[in-house]
Amino acid sequence: MSYVIEPPETIELPVKGGGVFPLHQVYCVGRNYADHAVEMGGDPDKELPFFFMKPAYAVLGSGSEMEYPPLSSDVHHEVELVVALARGGRDVSVEDAMELVYGYGVGIDMTRRDLQAEAKEKSRPWEAGKVFLHAAPCSDIVSIEETGEINDAAISLSINGEIRQDGNVNQLVWKVPEVISRLSALFSLRSGDLIFTGTPAGVGPIRRGDDIRASLAGVGELSILVSG
Ligand code: MN
Repeated sequence: MSYVIEPPETIELPVKGGGVFPLHQVYCVGRNYADHAVEMGGDPDKELPFFFMKPAYAVLGSGSEMEYPPLSSDVHHEVELVVALARGGRDVSVEDAMELVYGYGVGIDMTRRDLQAEAKEKSRPWEAGKVFLHAAPCSDIVSIEETGEINDAAISLSINGEIRQDGNVNQLVWKVPEVISRLSALFSLRSGDLIFTGTPAGVGPIRRGDDIRASLAGVGELSILVSG
């Protein structure tokens, strides 16, 4: 049997040291740092983190130009620890969760905040706020064999040389194994999935022409130029 249309291209990220990581899709955790939950008007003691998704086509590799998305005038950056899965699974226990992990990256959950706010106000889904071409810039992936488990590492984002977000992944409300376990209870995880684990405080707007750098200690840097 032959395909009746051209099969979609495999979207991939480079792996530090060689090779490529083929992408399946992207899960994201909402409000997983207490200080960010507060800046978004929430109460971290009363709200459990929650999840949303982005398609693989939203991923943009480091060193690339990001298209400023259409139909928004308030696009925000959210720098996040990214977990890359080597294996999928369902109903994975917290104890076994790290066995699914291939490695890590540092990414930016780009958000059309104006469209997200409208969706929140009308109790509608978040896709228009969270999904668009280049909505998920991500660094090269680094194998966990190289990094070890990352539980305590500085994470930051700067725009045109000025620091905008500065946190530590040790502030995650739900830790990586808990996130993987919960995702695997709700959904069917697959190899090639990325998990954006939530952002520390300091989110704010990006502008056309911005030079954006994200950094995660032990993993590396992500560099993006927003198209003019
Ligand atoms: Mn986020």
